[in-house]
Amino acid sequence: MPAVTVENILVLPRVPRIYTEGLKERAVKSLTTAPSGFEGEGFPVRRAFAGVSMTELDPFVHMDQMGEVEYSPGEAKGTPWHPHRGFETVTYIIDGTFVHQDSNGGGGTITNGDTQWMTAGAGILHIEAPPEFLVLAGGLFHGIQLWVNLPAANKFNPPAYQDIRAGEAILLASQDGGALLRVIAGEMAGYSGPGSTFTPITLIHATLSPGATLELPWSPSFNALAYVLSGKGTAGSQHRPIQSGQLAVFGQGDWLSVSSAAKQDSNSPSLEILFLGGHPIRERVVHYGPFVMNTEEEIVKALEDYQAGRLGTIPVSQVPHRHPGDLRLP
Ligand code: MN
Repeated sequence: MPAVTVENILVLPRVPRIYTEGLKERAVKSLTTAPSGFEGEGFPVRRAFAGVSMTELDPFVHMDQMGEVEYSPGEAKGTPWHPHRGFETVTYIIDGTFVHQDSNGGGGTITNGDTQWMTAGAGILHIEAPPEFLVLAGGLFHGIQLWVNLPAANKFNPPAYQDIRAGEAILLASQDGGALLRVIAGEMAGYSGPGSTFTPITLIHATLSPGATLELPWSPSFNALAYVLSGKGTAGSQHRPIQSGQLAVFGQGDWLSVSSAAKQDSNSPSLEILFLGGHPIRERVVHYGPFVMNTEEEIVKALEDYQAGRLGTIPVSQVPHRHPGDLRLP
C-alpha cells in the first residue's frame, strides 16, 4: 500500500496522550459490512455506507472503496462522462492511477496517495478513468470515493477543484509510535490537513502496525465513522472486532480508539483505516443518482438542467472518446 509512507515514523509529531479523566470514550454503535458492486463501466467497488441511515452519515452521503483490484491487461475501467450537483466528490487513490477531467477545466492525474477534491456545486460534468498505460498493462488499483454533502446555502456555489498531492497530507504518529496518520482534511491534535471544506470535517487515513493502539481526540459535535480498508482489529470502548470492508459508526463522546490485531493475514500486514467525521448539516437529504439536493423538486430541476446542458458541456477535445449524454442512474 504505497499511499504516503515514511521511513521512520518516530520522527513525526505525535497525537498527544488522551487524559481520559472526565472524557468519554466513544462506543461502536453499529457495525456494517460493505456489499460488493460495480461502478461506471464496471470497476469493482464496495459500498462502504450501505445500510447506514443518512442521519448517522451526515455530512457524508456515500462512499465507495474502489478495488483493491489487480487488473489484467485491457481490463481496467473507469466512468463515462456524467453530471453532479449539490455536493463534493473526494477521490483518494491509495494504489494505482486515475485520470480525471471536468467541464469546468479541472482535472489531472492522481496516484498513490493523491486526493482530488471536486466541488460539484451548481453543476459539473466529469469523467474518471484509468490512464491508457494502465489499461494496456494492467496493474493494481485501490482508492476511495467519498461524497460530502453541501448545505443548502452552498449547493449552487460555482464548481471548484482541489488537487491535493500525497506529499501535502499532514503526517502524524500515534502516541505509541505504532500508527501512521495521514490527515487529508480537517484538524487532528492541532494540525490541519490540506483539504478545504465548506462545513467542518476531518478525514484521516491511518495505518496501524500489528498490535498497535490508536487513540484520537474527536470533536464531540462531530459524528465519527471508521471504515476498514484492510486488516483486522478492534474498535471503540467495547473493543468490537472489526475487519476489512466493515464500517463502524461511533456513538457520542470525546475520543475514540482502535487497535490492530497482533496477528494479521499475510496479504494485509497492517490495519488500514479511514476515519471520517464532521459537523452534521441537519438538512433534508434527497439523493437521486448523481444529484444530492434538499427536495424532490430540486432533483427534477437538476435532471432538466442536465438535459438542457446547463450543468456543463463535455470539452470538445474529449467528445470522440466517450459517450456524451450517457447518464447512468444507479
Ligand atoms: Mn462522478
